[in-house]
Amino acid sequence: MATSGPPSPVSVQAGEKLSRIASIMVDHSSRRGGAFGRGGFGAIMGSKNLKGIAVLGTKGVELANPDGLRSYLKEHIKDLRETTGNHTKYGTLQYTGPLYELGAYPLMNFTRTRVDDESLMRNLYAEAMRSHYLAKDVACANCPVACGKFLEAKEGPWRGAKCKVEYETLWSLGPHCGVFDYNAIIAAHQLVDEYGFDGISAGYTVGFAMELYERGIIDKEFT
Ligand code: SF4
Repeated sequence: MATSGPPSPVSVQAGEKLSRIASIMVDHSSRRGGAFGRGGFGAIMGSKNLKGIAVLGTKGVELANPDGLRSYLKEHIKDLRETTGNHTKYGTLQYTGPLYELGAYPLMNFTRTRVDDESLMRNLYAEAMRSHYLAKDVACANCPVACGKFLEAKEGPWRGAKCKVEYETLWSLGPHCGVFDYNAIIAAHQLVDEYGFDGISAGYTVGFAMELYERGIIDKEFT
């Protein structure tokens, strides 16, 4: 499986294998793609031999009062933009820094909340994301907030990997596993999406297995 280049449009392997953490991937080949990530619903599709569902809308949406809607939007959209400024700029990734500084950001399978070299965490803060790794802000259909952050790995062997990253998956595939390199996290996220896993559960499971290994509860043969 490739770890760089554009995401593969095929994202059903986890569901076909009936993984309990398989997602239903949505429009994965586009930047707007996402996942019904939690709950293992990809495994339900897999158990029914259902590979995918294609939907193509051909009709518009009829409005009861188009002028009323237009003037409502005109009145409120400015407020919305002003009050959601940080969400537009950083998406959910804005929470990494504040939560770490509050001591509420679990690291290495919940075994600590601080790293000795604080610069490792600062590299994962929202400002670093925006200045180094942001390829594009993305929005759900017609949403003026555009909180989605489509990122691209810029350095190292993972250069060119691309993925939409959220606060939770940055955490689970990153510091939860002791990984603080944004490039590696983006690449891991791309892989997880290509296989069709729930990114939160996938990273969570790996971090848990790492601690089991460190404690000698599982060994090389098991892993
Ligand atoms: S609709 Fe989509 S883009 Fe808009 S705020 Fe919600 S998650 Fe973000």
